[in-house]
Amino acid sequence: MTPRQTKAQERRRKINIMVKKNDVFLLAGIALLSGVIFAVMALTGISRGSGGKLLAEVTIDGRLYGEFPMYEDTVVDIDEPLGHNTLVISDGQACISEADCPDQYCVRHRAVSKTGETIICLPHKLVVEIKAYGKVSVGADIDATAQ
Ligand SMILES: [Zn+2]
Repeated sequence: MTPRQTKAQERRRKINIMVKKNDVFLLAGIALLSGVIFAVMALTGISRGSGGKLLAEVTIDGRLYGEFPMYEDTVVDIDEPLGHNTLVISDGQACISEADCPDQYCVRHRAVSKTGETIICLPHKLVVEIKAYGKVSVGADIDATAQ
């Protein structure tokens, strides 16, 4: 083996190492990117696992009444001047089990469980909306500006 060949081999090895380094950066970049995409999906509620971080937001006449986590089974008696509704959260689903409104539309409405789904009681001006945790403050800000 002449010294010249050794040098050539040395150079080739360096190139190989550089390529490998670039591969590592590429892989790291892809991993980072998929991590970011996953985080964005989780925040926007695109990726919905059962018992995900959702809440039922109750507004009455455009005013926030309360927010109730969807992963906790709860019964909320909503007594307001406009009327009475009972919100039930059970197994990650929210429904109105009882109301003294004349149309009973909210009681007959199927249970909601996904981001953006709503139950509306028109006579009581009550809205139950399923929201993802990350979006709550944004939605509240938009509502506040709109009014
Ligand atoms: Zn109703």
